[in-house]
This record gives sequence, structure tokens and C-alpha cells, in this order.
Amino acid sequence: MARFIFITGGVVSSLGKGLASAALGALLQARGFKVRLRKLDPYLNVDPGTMSPSQHGEVYVTNDGAETDLDLGHYERFTGVNARKSDSTTTGRIYSDVIAKERRGDYLGATIQVIPHVTDAIKEFIQSDIADEDFVLCEIGGTVGDIEGLPYLEAIRQLGNELGRERTAFVHLTLVPYIKSAGELKTKPTQHSVKELQSVGIQPDILLCRTEREISPEARRKIGLFCNIRQEAVIQALDVDTIYHVPISYHEQGFDTEVMRHFGLQSKTKPNLDRWREVVSNLRHPEGEVTIAVVGKYMSVMDSYKSLAEALTHGGIANRVRVNLKWLDSEIFEAPDTVHHLEGVHGILVPGGFGERGAEGKIQAARFARERRVPYFGICFGMQMAVIEAARNLVGIKEANSTEFGPTSEPVVGLMTEWMRGNVLEKRKANGDLGGTMRLGAYDCALAPDSRVRDIYGAPMISERHRHRYEVNINYKDRLEKVGISFCGMSPDGELPEMIEIPDHPWFIGVQFHPELRSRPFEPHPLFTAFVRAAIEQGRLV
Ligand code: GLN
Repeated sequence: MARFIFITGGVVSSLGKGLASAALGALLQARGFKVRLRKLDPYLNVDPGTMSPSQHGEVYVTNDGAETDLDLGHYERFTGVNARKSDSTTTGRIYSDVIAKERRGDYLGATIQVIPHVTDAIKEFIQSDIADEDFVLCEIGGTVGDIEGLPYLEAIRQLGNELGRERTAFVHLTLVPYIKSAGELKTKPTQHSVKELQSVGIQPDILLCRTEREISPEARRKIGLFCNIRQEAVIQALDVDTIYHVPISYHEQGFDTEVMRHFGLQSKTKPNLDRWREVVSNLRHPEGEVTIAVVGKYMSVMDSYKSLAEALTHGGIANRVRVNLKWLDSEIFEAPDTVHHLEGVHGILVPGGFGERGAEGKIQAARFARERRVPYFGICFGMQMAVIEAARNLVGIKEANSTEFGPTSEPVVGLMTEWMRGNVLEKRKANGDLGGTMRLGAYDCALAPDSRVRDIYGAPMISERHRHRYEVNINYKDRLEKVGISFCGMSPDGELPEMIEIPDHPWFIGVQFHPELRSRPFEPHPLFTAFVRAAIEQGRLV
């Protein structure tokens, strides 16, 4: 039977609860256990799909098409376990399910309340869709004390009671700040945060204390004393230079040992963290470096392109080089004489995006890459813009555009209202809701025999994750192919262009899907590995 570990956070947000959960998952895996990771987000959005990436970071998409919080990306990268729809929920979703049930009369006339109806729905979610997992790690979004988080804390408190201590553990992540003027680490915020948890009936079993300085044994003892926790269960989480070092340093601090001890478990195997050490040493000692320009839109928040940045790092690991990212706001390229920002970079990547703002700048960047023979990787929107660029400047269709930006006489990129998923016809309305109406999740794609992408993947049929409304219009295929844009990847029914490449270019590939979502440190995505390799080649030329 699965054991549940609940991870909450206190003091401030952005302490890296997602990473902490992912790293613990990896450590339990390294001890031979089977894990699942889940995220429960207290906000009212039904899913993060409609939230701006600059506010909330990237929207991560699962194979089965759920739009989720970016923490699920950390979970997948650290554990290699593919997340599912049933691994992520929000208050908005919980409430809409409860209200739908109420409307159907499922509650038989009862008065619907937060306790027990909402808390029951949360508990049901936590325990649903579990097979033979040894551990289910549930991260509660937000910070203890947030008004929206209360029903979640109440639900996990109840579960702790119902399942008992042998099957539940509470891990609390806090901050132990260093106060310069006093020259001291301060434990008070942690004490307050734990009090807050205790006031809703939760006694944390393990404290994970983020800190920029070593926490002395004396300070640990003090935290333990005030928080009613054994000193050994107060784990120091010192800042590290790369996120892939987190599992190693947690292990060194005894985090997983404490979890074992809490549950009275013996490890199935002695944890072997060699592969993590290898990744870290690879990152710390590269044999060279390349610079990739990422021409996007949500540049103020690095989290908006989290998986992308990680996938590029993985591509670097595969080639033993450091990948420096030059983040450029595409709007720069809408002013004259600005392409010098792209001079000297070894590769240009235009990532996914939505809306007209900055689109012309992305088209300029794609043009620069094509004409100057700089490796180009267009992802989703980045492929659509590259195709529009080629239609305008190579085919001569001056009005070429995307219907995403309004009506156009030349819809080179347009809205599809019907498509096939396997044998099933999926439909959407042209004027439907924005939430949950995209082509989402994994779809197969057939690769053309003599293409570069076929070589890169080493397989004729692949599956990749999607998140978009618009598609490259197949009606322009012949004209684009005539000028050298090869439609090298197509949906199995041949209707949807999924990948394009320019054979007569050092490396120019556009993909309608999001390969970055599937890249892992131990399994870098082949397209990112190949793109970084092309950038290294380019580096030899410039
Ligand atoms: N805005 C484009 C679409 O909806 C591209 C989306 C994306 O890049 N994820 O098709």
C-alpha cells in the first residue's frame, strides 16, 4: 500500500518546494522504491493553462494532455516518471467538480460545505489512480498561512489521522535567513511557520531548512526544540550551484534516511547516486561553450521557459559543453538595424508563444538564421513564424500570416477545428473557450525517410507533446517545398505538418510540438543534443 508524503512550504514562496519534492522522489527511487509525485495548487484557476507565463511560469503539459504547473516538469526530469492528469489539481478544479456533483443531485440534498465536501474531494484526489507505488509525494502549493491553502491542510491533516503515521509523513520546507548586520542565521521565521502548521493540527515530521550558510548543530538543536522535532529530522538545505546537485546534498544531510526512519523502513537497495554525480561533474567541467539566442516574449520571468532552459542544458551535457543562453525580447527586432544582437551567436531558438505582440520580431530572427546560415530551432510558435517567413520571402506571398492575429487573405498558419488522435476524431469550436481547447498532449508523428530529423531520432515514428491551437496550413505545402522547406514530419494521417526542415542549411528545424517537455538530464532530447552539436559546429566557423 502506498505511503503518502506531504510537502508544505513556509515563510516565503519560491523556496523550491517543487525541486525539493522532485529530489526526494529521486532519492527514494535510488533506494529502489516506486514513486509518484503530485501537485495540489490552491489557486482558483481550473488549470494553469489560462495563466500568463510571466506571472506563473511555464505551463507544463503531460502525455495525456493535462496543462499543469511547471513543478510537474521538475518531477519528470528528476524521476523519469511520466506525470498524468491525475497528478495535478487546483482549487478551481476541485470546486467545479464538487459543484457539478451538487447540481447533479449526487449529494442527495445535503448542505455542501468546505468540510467535509471539499476536503473529501481533495482526499479522493490524493488517493486516486495509484497502482503499486510505494510512495506518493504530494506537494501543496503556496505558503502555509495562505487563505486558499486551508482546505488542503485540513484534508492532509485528516488523511494523516485516517491512514496513521505508518503511512503518512509531513515534510515542511522553510527558510533560515542570514541577517548580515547581526552576522547570524535566524530561526524565528521557521518557528513561526511551524506554529502556523501546528495551529491547523499538523505536526511536521521533517523540516527542510533552506539556507545560504551552514546551520550549526546548535541552531538545529534550537529549531528542533522549538518546533517539536528531533534534531536529526531538521535537515539543512544549503544553496547549491546546480539543481542537479540537490538530491546529492539532501542525501548527504540525511533527508532520505530520516524518511526511512519515520516509516520504519529498510532500503531495498543502498542508494546509488553516481548518475547524479556524473551529471553534476559534467556541468561543472565542460569542455567548451556555445551561446544560443532565445528570442521570445516572456523574458522577465525565467520560469516562463523552464523546461526549455533545462533541455538546452541537457543538450549541453550530452555534448560536454556549457550552453550560455542569451535571452532576447523579440520586439527588439521590430526596430531597424537591430540584427547585430544576433551576430556571433551559435544558434537561434524561437520558443513557443501566443499572440501577435513580438511576432514580427520572431519572423525577423528566423529570417536572419535562414539567410545567415545560423542553426535555427523553432518550437511551436517558432516553427509557425519560420514558415510564415519562408512563405513571405521565399515563395513571395507577401500577405502570409497566421489567423491567430486576425483575418488574413493568406492563412499560412490557421485554426484547425478537427483532427485525428489515433483513430478518434477530435473537434474544437472556432470561437470556443480559451481554457482547455488546444491540441494538447502526445501525438504521433511520421518522419520522412531521408530527412535530417529521421536521422536525429533514429526512428520512423515518434510521439511528442503538443499545446497549440493553430497549425501550418497543408494547402501551402507544395509551394513551400518548391523553395526548399521540407515537410519532414507529418501526423500519421498526413493532414498536419508537425515538422519542417531546410535540407540546404546547416541546421534549420521547426517543430509544432514541445520537445523540451520530454528532455531529461539522463536522457537529453535528441533534437536538443543535435541542435547544440550544430551550434558547436557553428562556433568553429565564427
Ligand atoms: N500560438 C500558437 C498556437 O496556438 C503557438 C502556441 C505555442 O507556441 N505553444 O498555435
